[in-house]
Amino acid sequence: MDPINFHIEIEQIRKEKDRARLLRATQWWKRKIAKGICYYCKNPVKPKDLTMDHIVPVSRGGLSTKGNVVPTCKTCNNKKKQLLPMEWDQYLKQISEKE
Ligand SMILES: [Zn+2]
Repeated sequence: MDPINFHIEIEQIRKEKDRARLLRATQWWKRKIAKGICYYCKNPVKPKDLTMDHIVPVSRGGLSTKGNVVPTCKTCNNKKKQLLPMEWDQYLKQISEKE
């Protein structure tokens, strides 16, 4: 990879992470986590245990915008990080069939 592009990419990721931090401090986000529901598995979660997840990860060009961040439980957040996109789709299918 071109080292200059690589550097820009790191800068962008850093910027989006800063933006996510700001977003987490907003009333908008506080209202979202106050509902206490994980966006993916729909399980009830204590607001303090909800984490912010980027639907499209920052590392893949996702932005810290209201349309791209959702509150999720730690289980879903970890799974999303660990699983391959295909396995993640499978997981989502499984939890939606559970209902
Ligand atoms: Zn969940």
